[in-house]
Amino acid sequence: MSWAEKPGRGGGEADWGTMRYPTRALVELSAIRENVRLIRETAGGAEVMAMVKADGYGHGAVAVAGAALAGGAGRLGVAYVEEALALREAGIDVPVMAMVCTPGDEYERAVARGVDLGVGGTRLLEEVAAAAGLAGRAARVHLAVDTGMTRGGATADAWPQLVDQALKAQASGQVEIIGIWSHMACADEPDHPSVARQTRAFREAVELAERSGVRPEVRHLANSAAALYLPDTRWDMVRPGIAIYGLSPAPGLPDPGLRPAMTVTSRIAFAKRVAAGSGVSYGHLYTTSKDTNVALVPAGYADGVPRNGSNVLELLAGGARRRVAGRVCMDQFVVDLGDDVVGEGDEVVLFGPGDRGEPTAQEWAEATGTISYEIVTRIGGRVPRTHLD
Ligand SMILES: *Cc1c(COP(=O)(O)O)cnc(C)c1O
Repeated sequence: MSWAEKPGRGGGEADWGTMRYPTRALVELSAIRENVRLIRETAGGAEVMAMVKADGYGHGAVAVAGAALAGGAGRLGVAYVEEALALREAGIDVPVMAMVCTPGDEYERAVARGVDLGVGGTRLLEEVAAAAGLAGRAARVHLAVDTGMTRGGATADAWPQLVDQALKAQASGQVEIIGIWSHMACADEPDHPSVARQTRAFREAVELAERSGVRPEVRHLANSAAALYLPDTRWDMVRPGIAIYGLSPAPGLPDPGLRPAMTVTSRIAFAKRVAAGSGVSYGHLYTTSKDTNVALVPAGYADGVPRNGSNVLELLAGGARRRVAGRVCMDQFVVDLGDDVVGEGDEVVLFGPGDRGEPTAQEWAEATGTISYEIVTRIGGRVPRTHLD
């Protein structure tokens, strides 16, 4: 086993690798590798674009990218051009696609570095084509069609014009049409009527583009839920995100045995005995019912512990599940141990794969009315990520 210290996000001048920060996110790269392998098997033959946007859903984009590629992914996807350029700076040279492109992004650099660009409008296509002229090479574009999500992508009405303009730009050497893609709104609900509608709309958009002469390398529609549960959406390539981190895109449905990759731990900062009737933390949302031991965990909402987890979230401390007592503060919260004792400096597990009885990110999500995506992505920039291989 080798341990590699990686900086957290937004580290500034701090040397996170050597800091004794009490709260840490441990990321098992072997779990990510294995999850990608499982998804690939399940998606039968489709290529995998591993989604590593938002710093790899909080897990550390560069390390995750390496593990995903080792697990059989052939490409990487991010949201923004800047994120794609950061992967290039880190020495990653496989195809990397930026899905959310905005006027004014660094297109000349992106084209020069061979970043794939998701383009859903003619105005953006013009800007990208102009940047390609400056960069002196063709821009690699994936044409986005809106099949019913009503987020990015050309509407069915605007699609023929986007295809036409892209073909002209391709003929003049400004762009290379690498892909045609869209995104599903309700893939986590396989019976939702929009699923069949979007699947059909995508087929029609692909057929129109191909009749017009587009010969894309990859036609892609499927996020994690679609890759796992909707065979008709897999086409040439799937774009799993949450599933590569081992969390379920559709918690009610069986998954192929994904393993959550992230474990967040902290260390008890302080412990003491307090009297019955003590109001705990801001607002006194919690009052001790008897004389009891309380312990202070040095992690708060700045580290990604949801504030609406006050009085609700569980964690593993002293070998048992405990509940947060009172408000989660910015940097700390309290747990009520009853007559149990934990030592100052002892490790506690906020969430993880569940091996030791700790909650999972999915449980934290359910307890706080959100999805596991938000739990892991919001682990704060000051929390160092440690990658275990
Ligand atoms: C984030 C994203 C994905 C991955 O979604 P998951 O639900 O995490 O699998 C795929 N495609 C696009 C366009 C995305 O924005």
